[in-house]
Amino acid sequence: MSHPRTVPPSVDVVIVGAGFSGMYLLHKLRELDLTAVVFEAGADVGGTWYWNRYPGARVDVESLAYSYSFSDELEQEYEWQERYPTQPEILKYARHVADRFDLRKDIVFRTRVSAATWDEGAKSWLVRTEHEDAVTARFLVMATGCLSASKMPEIPGLDTFKGATYHTAHWPHEGVDFSGLRVGIIGTGSSGVQSIPVIAEQAADLTVFQRTPAYSLPARNRRLRPDEIKTMKLNYRKFRQAQRESGFGVPTPVPTKSALEVSEAERDAAFEVAWESGSLVNLLTAYKDLAVDQAANDTAKRWIHRKIHDIVSDPQVADDLSPEYPVGTKRPCLDTNYYETYNRPNVHLVNLRRTPLVEVTEKGIRTSEREYEFDAIVYATGFDAMTGALTNVDIRGRDGLSLKETWSAGPRTYLGIGTAGFPNFFMITGPGSPSVLSNMVVSIEQHVDWVTDAIAHLREQGLRVIEPVREAQDAWVDHVNEIASYTLYPKANSWYMGANVPGKPRVFMPYAGGVGEYRKKCDEVAAKGYEGFELTV
Ligand SMILES: Cc1cc2nc3c(=O)[nH]c(=O)nc-3n(C[C@H](O)[C@H](O)[C@H](O)COP(=O)(O)OP(=O)(O)OC[C@H]3O[C@@H](n4cnc5c(N)ncnc54)[C@H](O)[C@@H]3O)c2cc1C
Repeated sequence: MSHPRTVPPSVDVVIVGAGFSGMYLLHKLRELDLTAVVFEAGADVGGTWYWNRYPGARVDVESLAYSYSFSDELEQEYEWQERYPTQPEILKYARHVADRFDLRKDIVFRTRVSAATWDEGAKSWLVRTEHEDAVTARFLVMATGCLSASKMPEIPGLDTFKGATYHTAHWPHEGVDFSGLRVGIIGTGSSGVQSIPVIAEQAADLTVFQRTPAYSLPARNRRLRPDEIKTMKLNYRKFRQAQRESGFGVPTPVPTKSALEVSEAERDAAFEVAWESGSLVNLLTAYKDLAVDQAANDTAKRWIHRKIHDIVSDPQVADDLSPEYPVGTKRPCLDTNYYETYNRPNVHLVNLRRTPLVEVTEKGIRTSEREYEFDAIVYATGFDAMTGALTNVDIRGRDGLSLKETWSAGPRTYLGIGTAGFPNFFMITGPGSPSVLSNMVVSIEQHVDWVTDAIAHLREQGLRVIEPVREAQDAWVDHVNEIASYTLYPKANSWYMGANVPGKPRVFMPYAGGVGEYRKKCDEVAAKGYEGFELTV
């Protein structure tokens, strides 16, 4: 369906994407009296929370922390219901923000940006959409999301299945009733872990196809109490500052002890406290060396394996659900009854390490061992993370340079904000920034603030073009790699590494130095007149 909107032929800024990034960016640009148009593939705002409507979809950062901080009024008036809100509650929030700040009038929905080309003579971008819109803009900002280009598994026969097929990231708006159905689900990352318990309660039979198990903690979700909301609202400014200075965008005490310097009993007790708290960050920061020392990490791993064996009654299933890679090196999950679900008689786990997937058939799924018959198949197979939504657009910088080709050996950015060869081009939470290793709303706000400050600075100085200097970019890429090499992250075949997409280069994409340190670096760059960027007329 095409959009019914008249699109302005020329604006100061084209924004691609109307998730939390694009929405806040639009608001900020208006405050600077700049003109902007947002193109959004979906039919409404919300991004992630517009698309991912699968059963059980929730955020796993607490609502009072996973929310915008830019408006005191918004913070004070909005009433979150749950500790970890469901997708509908977060989408409602996004819609509220769009209404409150009258954002929709500059957003063109149902419109995918297909190409963008830098015009060196005019010093502007020409942006094209799937509906043949053509807009020129001085700046192009990709607010396209780290996890928005969904991925199907690479197995033969995907189109042959005669039953119903769903992907968690494109869930039907009217929901799906699995009552009485035999359902197969492929994938046990966050979307699988969240949806499996809910689908299991409905379906006659659920078979889970698992390649790599996830580490998952019980979310201990609950309704928020009025007193805790009130306390947060009284203390929001202090809390937001602490978020910005923290490692993950969630304030937590900085650990001082090594997991290896304490007794097993003390360690077990600390892990138990983290497990009971329902907070991923509490587990990951229980000891200072869990992310960097294999032996330290092994203590957490063994402890979680024990927990899984305590919960899951079939020892073989418990073994299959126990990950071998270091804790935290793939995105850990928060769940409600995930491991318990495998005790249900209607739930079966197929370990694809032992019996690999062979093909999707007319009737269901065939592994190396047998064919499974289903009425419906759910793909919880995630995303071409961090770069997919960027390289899906044919972006051409100086001299026709293609972003996709330039990044063929892995993304190269300066601060995760810009990339050499692509003037006046910005990414919100791009590769090389903390992004997916953080509470993303904190990272989004920081990037939007930085980018809009940079645009305002250019205007004040009578300058027109900003572009990363290649040497500064090389140094940043080296720094991101160096920090990653101190950690255990590169040890897992994760989507942080691009390992879920065949042929994608194995590069650890996010910046692992923490949001506080990263912000200091970005502020320093700006304070030194945008050091490492070339600013010209
Ligand atoms: C299931 C799930 C759970 C998550 N849970 C958490 C969590 O617990 N904590 C956390 O911090 N983060 C979480 N995230 C990450 C989440 O993506 C971010 O928190 C945040 O919502 C990102 O906002 P965004 O605006 O940057 O990107 P998105 O919300 O992804 O929005 C990007 C938008 O760009 C649009 N778009 C992309 N390409 C184009 C194009 N070419 N043309 C037009 N439009 C385009 C997309 O349609 C999309 O609407 C989760 C992500 C998923 C998928």
